[in-house]
Amino acid sequence: MFPWLDASFKQLSHRITTNKLHHALLIQGPSGLGKASFTMQLGQLLLCKDRQGDKVCGQCQSCLLNAANTHPDLHLVASDKQIGVDQIREAIKKLDSSAHMSGAKVLIIYHAHTMTESSANALLKTLEEPTANTFLLLTTDKPERILATIKSRCEKLALPLPDLDTTLAWVKTQYAGEIDINFVKLFSARPLALLAELQEEQKFTYDIFSQGLQALLQGQTNSMQLAMDWQDSADKVLKWTQYWARQQCTEQMSESVWQLSEQAIKVTQQLRNPGVNKTLLLTALLNKLALVKAA
Ligand SMILES: [Zn+2]
Repeated sequence: MFPWLDASFKQLSHRITTNKLHHALLIQGPSGLGKASFTMQLGQLLLCKDRQGDKVCGQCQSCLLNAANTHPDLHLVASDKQIGVDQIREAIKKLDSSAHMSGAKVLIIYHAHTMTESSANALLKTLEEPTANTFLLLTTDKPERILATIKSRCEKLALPLPDLDTTLAWVKTQYAGEIDINFVKLFSARPLALLAELQEEQKFTYDIFSQGLQALLQGQTNSMQLAMDWQDSADKVLKWTQYWARQQCTEQMSESVWQLSEQAIKVTQQLRNPGVNKTLLLTALLNKLALVKAA
């Protein structure tokens, strides 16, 4: 288990041991915190036939099936965009059929906030009157989007966020390259997101970005040209811009840096619209960035 989630996991496993675990948990925390892994391990712990405290035995038939991702009483529902009512109905049907392994049954719904209203309604009855020894584990990084009727039937579990030192210490155990502390600060409470970012093979590195900026600030290129060169890496440009802005204000946030950060956030949202002109958006952003340096 991740060090920052270990205590929460131990608490839940204690409640499993003492038969005090609520049958429906709404597990909350930002993306990149480790919710999915936490929830999967909790589900596997519930299914293990020979638990040792917060550890699965690794040898019972349930554990072997889990290791092969083929446990018949562990059901997963997930979607990046929207969880449709058919997905929920199908999962409930499987859940309602008797336990194949004569033990617990677990349904995990990842990104529960992506359930449509009819999906959520289809789940209500199961949340209210679950079959015996059945556990529903819902995860979300946007609890505010979950219907109140669902929330009120779940026990809410907000996972603790790691502090900067914990994040850094863990990422160092996973990643051998150089790690810039300012970059870590961007992801402080989301260690897995930080690691993914570090590991990602980057064609567009921070070096390329800062060399381009240097050229811009020295008048060797212009914002429009850079924006055209960089438009395919627009997400990275925005991330690096916020990183750069952070570096500019170690002591206090100047008005122009604040405006740049605001603009970066605005452009990030605008880029999600299909058909936007990336070049124009990035040009405007780079113009603002050049002003920060001039100020
Ligand atoms: Zn086991």
